[in-house]
Amino acid sequence: MKQILVISGKGGTGKTTIAAAFASLAKNAVFADCDVDAPDLHIILQPKILKEEPFFALRTPRKDESKCIRCGKCREACRFDAIDENFNPIPVRCEGCAACAFVCPEKAIEMVDREAGKLYLSETRFGPFVHAQLNIGEEASGKLVTEVKKRAKQLAEKEGKELILIDGSPGIGCPVIASLAGVDLALIVTEPTVSGIHDLGRILEVTKHFKVKAAVCINKFDINEKKTADVERFCMENKIPVVGRIPYNSDVTKAMLELETVIEFSSSKVSGAVKEIWMGLNDMVLK
Ligand code: SF4
Ligand code: SF4
Repeated sequence: MKQILVISGKGGTGKTTIAAAFASLAKNAVFADCDVDAPDLHIILQPKILKEEPFFALRTPRKDESKCIRCGKCREACRFDAIDENFNPIPVRCEGCAACAFVCPEKAIEMVDREAGKLYLSETRFGPFVHAQLNIGEEASGKLVTEVKKRAKQLAEKEGKELILIDGSPGIGCPVIASLAGVDLALIVTEPTVSGIHDLGRILEVTKHFKVKAAVCINKFDINEKKTADVERFCMENKIPVVGRIPYNSDVTKAMLELETVIEFSSSKVSGAVKEIWMGLNDMVLK
């Protein structure tokens, strides 16, 4: 079983549009949305949720007021300044280290699971889909990404799928690093702008560091052909294959409004370019 991850150095490059289009072309795949902070692949895939599960990340202290003698030992022990003057834990500061529970002489504090988000196992018109949503303010995005990938792998094994197609999160943070683990190819979606080339350089550093094979596709290449040439030169110098260029086309927005992939919506130049890129990726990964 192979894994292809679609990522971008920043948001707004059309990454999810392209990942959704690939989903409509993939014949025997499980899909995963690893952008757990701001998932949006479900908007186009319109999943039917089959199973919803709570996701627990950090454990958090819960105090039994009736046992507390206000000795203050918990507050002294907390290195994160996460216990207030009334000796109550402050959840947003708490790192779940359990020192407070350990030092409490009255056993007034117990560590309990804290729900940090939800995980969904779903079905779509293209195949099974694993996705998630991290609660606002939670920081365990890397852990949730790892869980999404684990479930997608289990599902692919159970259903005999040959591929896991993953929509990653933008940027170079913790969820991207978690999503890179074990993938066979990372497709980096970029745009021909000054910041696009800069962000591409940063994300390539990350893929290189984690020894993940990378390829690049240039979205809306025709909005600035000079910068497109710069991206291609940059990729050539860094020995990264450019697997395709996608033109700007208003059908992309129209397809989104119809909740369809660009492939389903029309046979525009965009869908032709995406199909070619998909065939190229298949040659690189599945053959
Ligand atoms: S679990 Fe650790 S960080 Fe959280 S309140 Fe207790 S001592 Fe502080
Ligand atoms: S250590 Fe225990 S008994 Fe002392 S103030 Fe904290 S919760 Fe209360």
